[in-house]
Amino acid sequence: SQPTDTDDESEATLRTPIVAVLGHVDHGKTSLLDEIRGSAVTEGESGAITQHIGATAVPLDVISEIAGELVDPTDFDLPGLLFIDTPGHHSFSTLRSRGGALADIAILVVDVNDGFQPQTLEAVDILARTQTPFIVAANKIDTVPGWNPNDHAPTQQTIDAQTDRVERDLNENLYELIGDLSDNDFSADMYWRVQDFQNNIGVVPVSAETGEGIPDLLTVMMGLSQRYMKEEMAVDVNGPAAGTVLEVTDTQGFGTTVDAIIYDGTIRADDEIVVGGVEGPIVTEVRALLRPRPLEEIRTEGQFEQVDAVAAADGIKIAAPDLDDAMAGAPIRVVGDRDVDDVIEEVQAELADIAVQTGEEGVVVKADTLGSLEALASTLEAEEIPIVRAEVGDIAPRDVRVAETANEVKHRTILGFGVETLDDASDLAEQEGVRIFDHDVIYRLVEEYEEYVEERERAQQDQVLDNITRPARFQILDDHTFRQSDPAVVGVEILGGSLRRNSNVAKFEGSEPERVGLMKSIQDEGEDVDEARTGERVAVSIDGPTVGRQIREGDTLWTEIPEKHAKILEQELTGDIPADEVETLNMYLEKRRNRDPFWGK
Ligand code: GDP
Repeated sequence: SQPTDTDDESEATLRTPIVAVLGHVDHGKTSLLDEIRGSAVTEGESGAITQHIGATAVPLDVISEIAGELVDPTDFDLPGLLFIDTPGHHSFSTLRSRGGALADIAILVVDVNDGFQPQTLEAVDILARTQTPFIVAANKIDTVPGWNPNDHAPTQQTIDAQTDRVERDLNENLYELIGDLSDNDFSADMYWRVQDFQNNIGVVPVSAETGEGIPDLLTVMMGLSQRYMKEEMAVDVNGPAAGTVLEVTDTQGFGTTVDAIIYDGTIRADDEIVVGGVEGPIVTEVRALLRPRPLEEIRTEGQFEQVDAVAAADGIKIAAPDLDDAMAGAPIRVVGDRDVDDVIEEVQAELADIAVQTGEEGVVVKADTLGSLEALASTLEAEEIPIVRAEVGDIAPRDVRVAETANEVKHRTILGFGVETLDDASDLAEQEGVRIFDHDVIYRLVEEYEEYVEERERAQQDQVLDNITRPARFQILDDHTFRQSDPAVVGVEILGGSLRRNSNVAKFEGSEPERVGLMKSIQDEGEDVDEARTGERVAVSIDGPTVGRQIREGDTLWTEIPEKHAKILEQELTGDIPADEVETLNMYLEKRRNRDPFWGK
């Protein structure tokens, strides 16, 4: 791919390791890549840096220029490093291929002042799941108060130039970070103390702003690749290419194109290829391989230059017919001299491997790439949230059509990660009562959905409670008979629970309640009220009894609770009603169960 590694065919069989940069928003992923790119351009002789789609290649000689005395280029035979440019949440797509990771190795960027944040955790989860080796760039060391900047200096050198207090403050932050990693089951230490990078994560203090520590970062990445990845980097560069779609884009003059990272073999400008699409593998023929031109040539020559062939590892824009359905994160294969059906099968198998488990009932899930779809689906699975359909792409009306058929209202929902909602889809959703959630952080997305479900359930429970007879025990006060009958009006004190209108009133003779009438109204100091609670004294009118016959002053009366209600109250709602009501309920149950131990069970 680059002049440096195609000069000698026999050397070219070790490909460039692919590096992904991940981290929480604003922790400095873009700045770090810019800094590396910038240093590479400054240090590299002209021509050493080739333009790539979706990636920045830094050849070994440029790394050794940047790293200065830290790197002796003769120690290495890997050609350099290929950094995937990972805009925002697209980072997940870079971590997907062959059931593992497209990136061979990763840098987790963490703001040294801010520490672990939701997207940091998310990245760590994915790194662990895909078993991608990584190092931590503890970024923004220049923001430690009192920092004395030494542009582009190696870490140790710049730390030596700080005051004791600044160094102590930095160390405090670094150790907190190491603690966060260990809380997530990663043992980590300052990179210079790490002996075995396979079992320990190296932390490299850097500043993307001043370039401090960048020499160390590149050195550690290079060393790590050389030490642990050399075998995997041995590829047949002349064989048929394998790659991953990073993004599906419209390119002027070429229609729908895919930006892809090629991690194996060579793709040529007239190759037959198979690309993973929404409806399955797409078989098509390359029309053009496009590489961005250097800035200074764009005005005269156009934005892209066509090339004849591209070898791993490299990023390239591929123009071909029928790519509209291609999916970000999907595999891409050159057919070469193989049987096209075998290649289709291979792509199909890989797509099936990524395919999310869906069922008859559940939520609709949409994501921007296969990688993020998979990450979201596995989070949902862990939370036991079922999925009815999972696809890459924006939220469209047909997704609403699927969501609205869910049996359970809480599943009439679409969860979108890093996607847009098409206008007609949001209109239709509103019309059909389908809820759409979208967020660029998976944790948050799932959390928001769960909060919604909880809220709904609470509202439903409130509704159930409203329709259920609540326990109450009350006593007729002496000398408080205001009317003897039709209806009887007496003063009562609530001994426990919640007395409500329109409930049946009962009196216990032994363990059998005897209905004496219906609670018609409750008055508190002359005002009609719906409810009276423990300790309150109110006037009640009861339809049915006559004072002195069925009821008497001093009697203890109860709200009669239907058996079905008693059962729901005891088994489902004791957590939702006040303690005095629970106590009253238990007294009621105890009385009834004296006679029938299974009453209300
Ligand atoms: P991303 O969202 O992870 O890509 O973060 P950016 O690279 O966009 O950085 C977010 C902000 O932090 C920007 O304003 C950067 O200028 C700033 N920033 C990034 N790295 C550093 C650093 O090392 N030192 C300082 N002082 N600021 C930084």
